[in-house]
Amino acid sequence: MKLPFIKAALVTCVLAGCGQTEKAAAPQAAQAPKAEQAVTADNSVEQAKALLLAEWQGPFQGVPAFDKVSLAGLIPALEEAMKLNLAEIDVIANNTQPATFENTIVELEKTGGALDRIFSYYGIWSANKSSPEFRKIQGEMAPKLSAFFSKISQNEKLFTRVSAIYNGEEMKGLRADQQRVVTLTYNSFAQNGATLDGAKKARFAQINQKLAGLHTKFGNNVLADEESYVLYLTKDQLGGLTESIIAAAASAAADRGKEGQYAITNTRSSMSPFLTYSNERELRKQVWTSYYSRGDNGDEFDNNALIAEILQLRHERVGLLGYKNYASWRLEDRMAKSPENAIKLMESVWPAAIARVDEEVADMLEIGKKEDSIEKIEPWDYRFYAEKVRKAKYALDSDEVKQYLQLDKLRDAMFYVAGRLFNFSFSEITDGSVPVFHEDVKVWEVTDKTSGEHIGLWYLDPFARKGKRSGAWATTYRSHTTFDGKKNVLSSNNSNFSKGAEGQPSLISWDDAETYFHEFGHALHFLSSNVVYPTLNGGVRDYTEFQSQLLERWLSTDEVIDNYLVHYKTGKPMPKELVAKIKQAATFNQGFKTTEYLASALVDMKFHTVDPTGIDPDKFERETLSALNMPEQIVMRHRTPHFGHVFSGEGYSSSYYGYMWAEVLTSDAAEAFAEAPGGFYDKEVAAKLVEHLFSVRNAVDPAEAYRAFRGRDAKVEALMRDRGFPVK
Ligand SMILES: [Zn+2]
Repeated sequence: MKLPFIKAALVTCVLAGCGQTEKAAAPQAAQAPKAEQAVTADNSVEQAKALLLAEWQGPFQGVPAFDKVSLAGLIPALEEAMKLNLAEIDVIANNTQPATFENTIVELEKTGGALDRIFSYYGIWSANKSSPEFRKIQGEMAPKLSAFFSKISQNEKLFTRVSAIYNGEEMKGLRADQQRVVTLTYNSFAQNGATLDGAKKARFAQINQKLAGLHTKFGNNVLADEESYVLYLTKDQLGGLTESIIAAAASAAADRGKEGQYAITNTRSSMSPFLTYSNERELRKQVWTSYYSRGDNGDEFDNNALIAEILQLRHERVGLLGYKNYASWRLEDRMAKSPENAIKLMESVWPAAIARVDEEVADMLEIGKKEDSIEKIEPWDYRFYAEKVRKAKYALDSDEVKQYLQLDKLRDAMFYVAGRLFNFSFSEITDGSVPVFHEDVKVWEVTDKTSGEHIGLWYLDPFARKGKRSGAWATTYRSHTTFDGKKNVLSSNNSNFSKGAEGQPSLISWDDAETYFHEFGHALHFLSSNVVYPTLNGGVRDYTEFQSQLLERWLSTDEVIDNYLVHYKTGKPMPKELVAKIKQAATFNQGFKTTEYLASALVDMKFHTVDPTGIDPDKFERETLSALNMPEQIVMRHRTPHFGHVFSGEGYSSSYYGYMWAEVLTSDAAEAFAEAPGGFYDKEVAAKLVEHLFSVRNAVDPAEAYRAFRGRDAKVEALMRDRGFPVK
């Protein structure tokens, strides 16, 4: 494994419906594994600990024991694994032989196996089946883990050895991918304070630890507001809502012991459809207000003071390293390289986006005046009237589209695409030989279609439930490497679709279908890896969404439409007219979508490029938006007090722009397929795609990799065309 502190989280999520905060609720006694129910005696804790630390057993080079592990052993197992990892590091650091690539870098890549395995379970408890019990452990362990990472990143003897290799003669003779491992390792040390001495180094570690606690608290505050603001409706308040929204609301209410009522919960997946369809304007306002006030209610869960503190500490920390602001430090290793480049891209798209909002508002107001005599479009009206414009202008009824989007058929479609582009074949494992953490989870074996060679497993956890965080994401339990024996890939996709009624297919929206393909794109990126060393599997934040975004494009290819987008009752493919309407509607509402996203991305970047001394986050947000001429009908997609991407960790801090950065690549790469003789299934372009953009992961600099695929850099014009914005 690679150094834990440079371990770029393999959990990635889609912009639509992504949230880093968990959507969790009461513990699920009914679904808890048996082991959780009766852990009292000390020997059970010992057993639970041993199981978490153990090498994985069973088929396919060993698989996680999801059916057996329990929280009881988590704290002692984590502590033991950290101890083991530090001991491994000490052996490398204290080696008396001169530092070489083999005895230092390769040995480092091998460390941390036990901790890596525990993190696979930890991720499940955090994202797929959270509970107050786990969150308590998480709160306790976050600062300890941070202190542990600092111990490694600030190990002077180790850094001296890495530095000797980085600056030494041997480096020149290494293969390009080996040089890249050395460089990434060296940079991560340097960026994490290894070059500091004495008091500065101690302060750096102290800040990290403090931040880890604040990030966790931030996320938990948002979660608290998501759980506590639930709107219960009676039957006469359901006007405008579709059958599926009503069914979901009824079941959400029943889950909360309010049988016969309808619950609109304070999460995106509940808020967004309600605002789209409810014709109760006052209720829309109420739902909108609760949602966009998360973390901003002036109570014990208010995040404003935390944000100021987080910004201050981040700024101080990068100041120790001599950087002028947080974003400059953060973007150094990204494809964008500097905040200026990222801002330049965002500002080149922003004027077209807000100009489009004016047009959208005018269209909506026309309908609103006529039908409901409203005087102006308020933020809680946007989704509602946008849907009416969509129906009027594009005659596109989202509910009609849904009838052609069956979850199982879509999965078959994804397998088909993977077969055509990657030569992968998927077969479901039904004999129970691979343990799962919930009965909804299914597992497939992935093999090469021609050679039959085993590649890995794909776990799918598709449905929403209590204790599962909102949104959709992909992760791995094990990644491909060859340096220490060839390892297979254990990949997973996770989402929050509503389960169809007994015996009925699960039908999802077009957006959700795109998300499904998106996450599968991440899985294919994991599965196609051909890197030698673990570090090279790491994701580059503004690049790693590109592969997944690109895969969304295959949803609307003829091959997929004709064979897989079939009506759930008649089995007939989606009519050509409906397909044409969907394609036309793709540029619809881009003013709203681009503006709400860019507002968040720009505010994130501005927060991290100023000196935050004495900052008032609320005022800063307001002033930044005002300077941008933010349309008053739209709010940031993630307002600062609940911007979990940025403040419940550092995964996306000063990096929310990365989605658009990746989307420029996506649009440009999609045009490469569209222009090819074989279109989206062109063999030659597909082979280049796999070779240069998927299999190499981070073994090649992303900018170089893209040039190898396209013969040039990506151009922003393709993105403007995709969104229906004028191209200069
Ligand atoms: Zn993603």
